[in-house]
Amino acid sequence: MKKKIAVFLIISCVFIASFSILAYANTNQARQSATTQEQPTTTAPVLVAPATPNLVYAKNSGYGVKVKWQPVENAEGYNIYRRTAATGWILIATVNGQGKSTYTDKTAVNASDYFYTVDAFNKAGRSGSNSTGILIHYISAPVTTVTNSKTGVVISWTQHPTATKYKIYKKVEGASSWKHVKTLNNATFTYTDKKAVSGERAYYGVAAVENNGVRGSLQKDKFNVFLSAPVIKKYKNTSLGVKVYWEPVAGAEKYRIIRKTEGGKWEKVKTVSNKTLGGTDKNAVPGVKYYYSVKAIAGKYTNRNSAIVGYKVEAPKAIKTKLESNGVKISWQGVQHADYYAVYKKDGAGKWVKIHSTKNNSTFSYTDKNVVSGASYTYTVATWYKKGKSIYGSEGKTIQFVASPKLISAVYSPQNNVTVSWSAVNGAVGYKLYKKEVGGKYAVLTELPVGQTTFVDTAVVAGKEYAYVVKAKTAAGTFTPKSNSKKSSTLDPNKPMIALTFDDGPSNSATTRILNVLEKHNARATFFVVGSRVDSYSYQIKRAYNLKCEIGNHSYGHKTLTSLSVDSLKWELSETDRRIQAITGVSPVLMRPPGGSYKTDTVRKNTPYPIIMWSVDTRDWESRNATAVVNHIKSHAYDGAIILMHDLYDSTAAATEIIVPWLISQGYQLVTVSEMMEAKGIQMQNGVAYSSAR
Ligand code: ZN
Repeated sequence: MKKKIAVFLIISCVFIASFSILAYANTNQARQSATTQEQPTTTAPVLVAPATPNLVYAKNSGYGVKVKWQPVENAEGYNIYRRTAATGWILIATVNGQGKSTYTDKTAVNASDYFYTVDAFNKAGRSGSNSTGILIHYISAPVTTVTNSKTGVVISWTQHPTATKYKIYKKVEGASSWKHVKTLNNATFTYTDKKAVSGERAYYGVAAVENNGVRGSLQKDKFNVFLSAPVIKKYKNTSLGVKVYWEPVAGAEKYRIIRKTEGGKWEKVKTVSNKTLGGTDKNAVPGVKYYYSVKAIAGKYTNRNSAIVGYKVEAPKAIKTKLESNGVKISWQGVQHADYYAVYKKDGAGKWVKIHSTKNNSTFSYTDKNVVSGASYTYTVATWYKKGKSIYGSEGKTIQFVASPKLISAVYSPQNNVTVSWSAVNGAVGYKLYKKEVGGKYAVLTELPVGQTTFVDTAVVAGKEYAYVVKAKTAAGTFTPKSNSKKSSTLDPNKPMIALTFDDGPSNSATTRILNVLEKHNARATFFVVGSRVDSYSYQIKRAYNLKCEIGNHSYGHKTLTSLSVDSLKWELSETDRRIQAITGVSPVLMRPPGGSYKTDTVRKNTPYPIIMWSVDTRDWESRNATAVVNHIKSHAYDGAIILMHDLYDSTAAATEIIVPWLISQGYQLVTVSEMMEAKGIQMQNGVAYSSAR
């Protein structure tokens, strides 16, 4: 309150002072002109106060009330005064300069009625002034801003206190007058000129209209160059970075690519001339999600499109292919931010076909097992981003798949050599054979040309056991992984052999007697044991295994396999395997079905090893008579026979004690089923039944 009074007092003093000066100046002017008339030639010119300026107008302008007067001679400046109907004159401004003729009163208050007047001054004093002044009803102009948007030029303004309507005006640069383009109610503070064409240069203004229909002025300096938002024609996530292409924008002087990360700020990528309609962000971090936009620019005026999402993608590095025994292994180095990888293979038509997707970004290899030995394949790997596109790796790596050979047999002969034989492999250009003494390390034995699939190793010592593996050589000069290994057998393939088999055990007495006689004659047999008996007779299983007998699977509960569900069948077999392996460390590789029942698809398909039947049935369980069993075997024995007995009965044990030395005396080698099949060159298949090696 105190402050206001003080300001009023100062203004009052100025007011009083100026009017006394005004009165003095008038008198002085009159006296000077009289003197001039009296002595026109004898004295130097005397400075007199300027004449009273004529008022031209006081009118609304964009930033206040604009007062205009006619400049007068000899003036050094002008004082501008304002009053309302209720107050006296108040000096509101002084402008220096003879030629000054306008002043804008920016302190005027909207919806007020003001009178303005002006006097001129110089060192001699002040002119008079129009004491009535010019009346003006001041209506302020809404404070206006103009910007470009995707749909056109947006004109927005601040709310005007007394407007009942707003009128929007436009003046294209170079046009002679403003054009009224739209009238809006007083609750609207924005308008979009959708008719603006790209490159158009224009001023926009907004006037407030009061309820009596009188409108105020415009802020007439709101200039804009409209540029339509560049239309993104296409964009590509490439290994160089995100590439953006756009349509030309009329009026654009240049373009700027900008980018930001999620939640980040826009930053400049690059600015290009208006002749360039595409660009690449080469500084992006691979895999990071960016938003990209393109700005059209003309001077300080710009417009940009909606952002697109892009990634700099990176192809997997160091793609390699390698032969595995069962396929081609493709491996690569991962890249940052990848979501996963996809492996591609070229088909016969030369098109890439996706053959595998990793489920995650931490898997860097895949083995393609869908390959044929001797055929060549080309592979590549792509990085995948969940949002964004993939990028292939290199042109691809071509490799000829060559399967590892299968080593079939390593047969010892009494002439002190081992004949090693293996399967021929398509695409191989040769073979490399490795040998070791059991317990030792493999070393290269020999390299052989492609046509040769057997080799007779004469560097053997009687009584020693050897193992062999073989690799195939590829046209590229590399080698396949090793084949399976085979130990040299001490069997003579030229002498007859028989496989004695015992089911349903182990038992205590009978199994012990049978193992005793086998041990005594250095003979072997195969025991198809019942899983539920394995734990109780584990000592028998251990002993049989140590005597190089073979332990086969005869189901867990001696069930008729053909009547079981798939699940029960699998359990019967796997549970038995598990218990045997717990004792010997080796899982059975043969199965004999209880009662010989296997002839259903379910059994065949779900038996993960060969099914072993028999060719000589002693019916020992029926006769329980050792002599009957011995006679049956004597009259039915032949090279390759599989003889069925059961190690539950003392009669069977007694028969075995007689028949083992007898068969040996007849020249038979007593061997396990697996040994006999191998020696006879029979490659058994899972789920297939075999009843002899003949
Ligand atoms: Zn049985």
